[in-house]
Formats: sequence, C-alpha cells, structure tokens
Amino acid sequence: MRIAQVVQDSIVDGPGFRLAVFTQGCPHGCPGCHNPETHDFSGGTEMTVEEIIEKLKKNPLMKGLTLSGGEPFCQAEECTRLAELARENGVRNVWAYSGWTFEQLLNSEDSGKISLLRQLDVLVDGPFILSQRSLAIPWRGSKNQRLIDVKASLEAGTAVEWQPA
Ligand code: SF4
Repeated sequence: MRIAQVVQDSIVDGPGFRLAVFTQGCPHGCPGCHNPETHDFSGGTEMTVEEIIEKLKKNPLMKGLTLSGGEPFCQAEECTRLAELARENGVRNVWAYSGWTFEQLLNSEDSGKISLLRQLDVLVDGPFILSQRSLAIPWRGSKNQRLIDVKASLEAGTAVEWQPA
C-alpha cells in the first residue's frame, strides 16, 4: 500500500499509545490542509501490511491503531486487512480519519469502503473546513468533523457520536 508516514507511539491521533498510519493519496483537496504532501497518489513509499504490523509489534503498549492520511478509504482493502491483523496482534481499538462523511461512506456502492467501516471503532469524518478550524476540539481540525461511534451507528442506521469512556 502507498504510505506517507508511520508514527509509532503516537499520543495525538486518538486516546492512548497508538500506531498512526498516514496513507498516501487524497482526492479531497481541502483548502488549508495540513498534509498537502500526502495528496499525490504516486507519492510516499510502498509498504506491505505485514511491514506495518512489524512496527506495531515493537511496542506492546500500543493498543490503538489510527488510519489517517491522505484518505485511508482510497486504500480501503489494504486498510481493512491492516485493521484485522492489528487486532490479531493486540490492538483494542481502531480509528480512522476520512474526508468523506459517515453517511457518504455508508451509502457508498464500494463494498471495500463498507468493509473498512465495519472494522472501525471510531470514524473522524468529513473534510477539513478552514472557516471552521478550531484548536479547541480534541482530535479534529474543524468543527464540522465528528467523532462517530461506528459500531453503534451501524446498529442504529444513523450517526451516533462517540463518547469517551
Ligand atoms: S481529507 Fe485530509 S488530507 Fe485530504 S485534503 Fe482534506 S484535510 Fe487534507
């Protein structure tokens, strides 16, 4: 899969110690994006899912996986496999960022996107909107973005916001 960066022991991409995987390639073009170097689909480097999992194994305290980007849902099949293998290796919760909303992903005709959605605990959804930028909301860049409890939302058939335990 095309990868922009893999960050071990991240504490800023969700709760606890996490492996943060920044996928390469994004079609959204949000003005003011903080990661413009991740937009080019031919940029970054090629890594296998197994190589990324090796990084996870280096620290048993990493109990979370965050898929960010770029746009993780553009590599949905690979990200789904990564999430599955991460859980097999002790990860307890999987978060993903997407420039698409929960509703757009849920109504997608792309079965790969739905499969990835089903792997997630929390989806941070929607594009970055510069006019709604805020430093006061944890784990998000702009106020339109939501923390979606994916399992509860799939069960309810509508977006349910995630609440920290
Ligand atoms: S979705 Fe994320 S990476 Fe893509 S343009 Fe928007 S802010 Fe940047």
